[in-house]
Amino acid sequence: MTKALIIGGGIAGAVTAMALQKAGVEAEVFEAYESGADDVGAFLVVFANGLEALRAIGAHGPVLANSFPAERVEFLSGTGKRLGERPLAGTVDETAMGPRTLTRATLYRVLHEEARRRGIPVRHGKRLVAAETVSDRRVVASFSDGSRAEGDLMIGADGIHSVVRKLIDPAAPRPRYTGQNTVCGYTRDIKPPSAPDTYTMIYGRRAFFGCTAAPDGEVWWFANAPGPERSRRDLAAVTADQWRQRLLALLADDHTPAAAVVRATGEHIIASHAYDLAVTPQWYSDTMVIIGDAAHAAAPNAAQGASMAIEDSIVLAKCLRDQHEPRRAFAAYEELRRARVERVVAHSARMTRRSAPGPIRRLVRDVMLPRSVGRGGDGADDWLTGYRVEW
Ligand SMILES: Cc1cc2nc3c(=O)[nH]c(=O)nc-3n(C[C@H](O)[C@H](O)[C@H](O)COP(=O)(O)OP(=O)(O)OC[C@H]3O[C@@H](n4cnc5c(N)ncnc54)[C@H](O)[C@@H]3O)c2cc1C
Repeated sequence: MTKALIIGGGIAGAVTAMALQKAGVEAEVFEAYESGADDVGAFLVVFANGLEALRAIGAHGPVLANSFPAERVEFLSGTGKRLGERPLAGTVDETAMGPRTLTRATLYRVLHEEARRRGIPVRHGKRLVAAETVSDRRVVASFSDGSRAEGDLMIGADGIHSVVRKLIDPAAPRPRYTGQNTVCGYTRDIKPPSAPDTYTMIYGRRAFFGCTAAPDGEVWWFANAPGPERSRRDLAAVTADQWRQRLLALLADDHTPAAAVVRATGEHIIASHAYDLAVTPQWYSDTMVIIGDAAHAAAPNAAQGASMAIEDSIVLAKCLRDQHEPRRAFAAYEELRRARVERVVAHSARMTRRSAPGPIRRLVRDVMLPRSVGRGGDGADDWLTGYRVEW
């Protein structure tokens, strides 16, 4: 039986392992951290395209059971003016599962639990540092603890700062910092500004803000705050209070609920850098391939990174099921995925620019947005969330 080494036990890693099992390929997952990745404190939305891809391998149940619905989105300008409201999922067919909100940590946990339940080995504390293709077309992975593992192929599901990407192509482009910190917070000490199942998105003058309410009334919020790229250690050193003060300064000129939500939040504030990765010219070699954020990464604005990683996982496993020669399977996977994922990255980059405009663009946006919000319900986003992978 073909054996795949999967580097990275995030979303793509766990889903690929389950999909490969269904395809008859043995898989072992190697994750750098003892549990999950860093910046897993953020929350995310998984849309119908991601959920339906999980359904292809029967793994959607645990995600549905540990998340809550995200049905609508309403938009406010920084003046507090209501710009419109639309269904979050566009006009996707009624049989599809609606978008769901959950923390990244929960998504990691339920996917890992499901993979383990299916008997897939997940090794923690295994940070890939090098790999080589040995003469008989097998690949040997070396980890920072000195251990090694050997397989017929290696799948880099190791996220935006992928080591496997560099092993495939040392000249691969680096992720681009979007100039934004994504700050997330959770508070029970304020009445939710949004109706249940609804996201309130606020185009503030100096920061974009979004929030929703969990079923127990806790407010989950995020803000895109312009700021410099820091080292990982410097970012971690910024305290919750410092983030609170920074955001309150950015939100000071707005007349929206955002500042009150931030003020009501205690220690539960987490921040990360927002990156994107538009085009990675080389996705594979004879024995290695990259998927998910390792291959392409959209800025968080389109909220599609997890769903794209899930779609990639199912498609790659299907290609390895149908084509036993790895390089051919990798080529078929790239053929099926590249145009779509690059379109999503570009779409998200446009959303990032729209969320942080100058004064003139802000004026145009506030006039134009109510019209485009109206169009959101007529299928404008169907190419994104109405897409279905085939197994
Ligand atoms: C603040 C924020 C909000 C977001 N919101 C959304 C959203 O609403 N909807 C959405 O769909 N997406 C969202 N995303 C994006 C989404 O989280 C990512 O696109 C998704 O996690 C990508 O999955 P992945 O498996 O490719 O990578 P990751 O989830 O990053 O997993 C990579 C894994 O590889 C491990 N790893 C890294 N290097 C090594 C190594 N050398 N050896 C072994 N293991 C390694 C990491 O520890 C990690 O566990 C958001 C991201 C952020 C930061």
